[in-house]
Amino acid sequence: MKLYLYNTQGKSKQEFKPQSKSGVKVYMCGPTVYWYPHIGNLRTYVNNDILLRVLRYNGFKVKTVMNITDVGHLVGDRDMGEDKMEKAAREKKVNIWDIAKKYTNYFWYATGALNIKKPDIVCKATDYIKPMISLVEKLEQKGYTYKTKDGIYFDTSKFKDYGKLASLDVEGLQEGARVEANPEKKNPTDFALWKFAKKGEQRQMEWSSPWGQHSFPGWHIECSAMAMETLGESLDIHTGGIEHIPVHHTNEIAQSEAATGKKFVNFWFHSNHLLVDGRKMSKSLKNIFILDDLLKKGFDPLALRYFYLSAHYRSKLNFTWKALSGAQKALDNLRKLIKEEAGLLGDSNIKIKELKDKFLEALNDDLNTSQALAVVWEVAKSGLPLEKKLTLIKEWDQVLGLDLLKDKKQEEVPVAVLNLVKQREEARKNKQWQEADKLRKKIEELGWQAEDTSKGTKVSKL
Ligand code: AMP
Ligand code: ZN
Repeated sequence: MKLYLYNTQGKSKQEFKPQSKSGVKVYMCGPTVYWYPHIGNLRTYVNNDILLRVLRYNGFKVKTVMNITDVGHLVGDRDMGEDKMEKAAREKKVNIWDIAKKYTNYFWYATGALNIKKPDIVCKATDYIKPMISLVEKLEQKGYTYKTKDGIYFDTSKFKDYGKLASLDVEGLQEGARVEANPEKKNPTDFALWKFAKKGEQRQMEWSSPWGQHSFPGWHIECSAMAMETLGESLDIHTGGIEHIPVHHTNEIAQSEAATGKKFVNFWFHSNHLLVDGRKMSKSLKNIFILDDLLKKGFDPLALRYFYLSAHYRSKLNFTWKALSGAQKALDNLRKLIKEEAGLLGDSNIKIKELKDKFLEALNDDLNTSQALAVVWEVAKSGLPLEKKLTLIKEWDQVLGLDLLKDKKQEEVPVAVLNLVKQREEARKNKQWQEADKLRKKIEELGWQAEDTSKGTKVSKL
């Protein structure tokens, strides 16, 4: 069966074909680790996870890379304002590397709890400074760059198809250019490849480069350099949230293709946003939630995953506590129903092959997860013999990742708790007692306790 995915480049559903049989190369824009990933961010990563699972279910071999942005992402996406990481470290008066570590750990804990598989390769931006410098040098040699007081910039007027991904009205932007943060910029769409620390600015993260002593990479160059270093010059799929289309991904294409002369990405996969009570999540509205907020209220993290899957990844999705409760109830009922011997409909004549086709058809139509869930419900309610039902749903759950066969009575230790226990063990190994204590409290908040025994940590219900 053919797999169709919506491609932002071309704005249509297209049949997915990898460049080579050896494996589908997927690069995913990862988190900026200056704060906790919120449930909006997590929606994007669950959508990515479904994409990867569907590719594998279709028999493709997949190689996945995700970056961790631990430097260079400025408060304003258009190279304005302070570095988000430096700002967080300054405000909290802590070491920047500790901030990066703390929130990276939280990211793996939260994504693990949501059954998101870890990528094959994880790249921290700060580990890839050399290839980033080489890429900027290459662009410099090819005449795409110019220098201003605050950095090395990419001249977008020199790249023929600049803005195609987002259908940007580049000329309109030129004419209507507002007062720019950097008046030395030749075009409003030009962006920083490499930045210089401001005079008197004390950065915790900076490197010497061919362009100066106290400098650091621009956010966009990071993704291009890491993607090409790990996957080669042409990728099959690149993912991210929709707000990356007009700036971050537009700039990634320009600088990568200007450097290599090759098409950078075949399929652009973009997730739409999660809203809260119909509004954008923002600190001022106090409507940003993280996974722990849900766990403290007793929700199963997979109820959140179920909630995400009930909508199409290209639609906006509105989060309310009521909707999450609905998802929790639906998931509990579904798990119960699956294990019941005689289905409600009493129809045992359904053909397994037809059901499998229906399930795959839904997913292969640009990941129609709500339709796929409807097929699961149909089977759960059907009169299929229990053994067949369980076999089928076990197979499908490899794609959905909802632990549909989980038995509530068994009270397994949730992944979220296990991840905290692992982090606590690491903190204890490094003699970070305060951190270990904080983690113990977090474990307790989730209703579990960690005891240290000679055989390691024993975890039990409080
Ligand atoms: P960041 O850590 O800010 O770089 O964002 C991580 C990922 O989350 C990016 O791919 C964003 O596009 C995505 N994202 C940010 N806000 C939302 C939201 N409200 N809903 C869904 N995805 C989001
Ligand atoms: Zn990126």
